Amino acid sequence: MPTCPPIPKAPSSRRGCPAIAVLLALSLFLPACSSRQAQPSPTLSLQAGMVLNRALFLSWTEASEVDFGRYEVYAAPASEPLPDTPVAVLEEADHCYLSVRGLEPETEYAFRVRLVPAAGGEGTWSDTVRATTLEDGFPEGTPPGSIPVPTLMYHHVRPLDTFPPGADPGGWYPSESFERDLAWMKAHGIHTVTSADILDGRLPENPVFLTFDDGYTDFLDYAVPLLVKYGFQAANAIVTQRTGGQSVWAIPEWPLDSLMTWPQIRRCLQAGMEIGGHTQTHVNLYWNQEQMPQVQGSFDDLVSALGFRPLYFCYPWGMGGHDFVDAKIAVGDAGYRFATATWPPRHANAASDPFFFPRQFANQEDTLQVFLEKTRFRALAGPDEIPPER
Ligand SMILES: [Zn+2]
Repeated sequence: MPTCPPIPKAPSSRRGCPAIAVLLALSLFLPACSSRQAQPSPTLSLQAGMVLNRALFLSWTEASEVDFGRYEVYAAPASEPLPDTPVAVLEEADHCYLSVRGLEPETEYAFRVRLVPAAGGEGTWSDTVRATTLEDGFPEGTPPGSIPVPTLMYHHVRPLDTFPPGADPGGWYPSESFERDLAWMKAHGIHTVTSADILDGRLPENPVFLTFDDGYTDFLDYAVPLLVKYGFQAANAIVTQRTGGQSVWAIPEWPLDSLMTWPQIRRCLQAGMEIGGHTQTHVNLYWNQEQMPQVQGSFDDLVSALGFRPLYFCYPWGMGGHDFVDAKIAVGDAGYRFATATWPPRHANAASDPFFFPRQFANQEDTLQVFLEKTRFRALAGPDEIPPER
């Protein structure tokens, strides 16, 4: 996922207590590190934000210049003492945040960060910060009488043997699995829809909304041909000032990937795909509220480059799961009419908030059974076509 917020693996695909993996995030994502003024008593202020179902973002600021050596990050369930060894060691002075992944759901965790000078010694400890992860599973969210609109989030789709090192399971989906899912949907009377279909309420039988984030070139190279082959559509949200460039907002461990140029984006439109906005530089509108004008800017960029007023917007980084009303207002004021959320993954239906429309993640290892669970299409499957394991 390379891409939007580091995506925890699907709850169904990770049980038990896996080792905690740590990823760094870019400074444009969270508040910038404080300037380093020489002061005699450095302090470290730690915040826990973006509590996700199986991951959590930490950020901190440093109050003074020190002879920087490394940051050490400690984490443990709040009922247990913090371990003697850190779960992550960060040696980049300017990386003042990370995500801790693979956590247990509905569990309170404690976190501390230590800044160790290059000369060694005890260094500076932050206070202990506690945060509780969200529930696991696939929460139900469809009120009686409302039409389910399964909505899936993808980033990269390409052949598994072309995945680069570091391809995040939450962001890279094998084209083999993608075609498996499309073929299954085609054979079972599923119809893809656009945001206009959802807004108009003119939904076909068994609708599904397929969304891609960031506008990667592999969308045009691999996903679009498969979608066209099966007569389907998908929406892609474009980072309008990064077209033709690379996903420079990604965290350092994630491979950079190429973004479509405007001519390539127009080819997607010609193939029947929907194109929307994703801000101009992929900013988190909750953490970087001063960047809110990028919503209007992205809308204007799309109008200028494509010649029509787009309906669809996608919040970069899922706004960290914050249903942030100021951003929703900005999206509507800009001219967009529909926006997708990311966190927490939830089922969507025709009555869901059109400015915070929930999605489910497509994860790299998803079996057909998991796909059917995320889309709730299982009831349409024949008794013999789904293998018992998942
Ligand atoms: Zn994104």
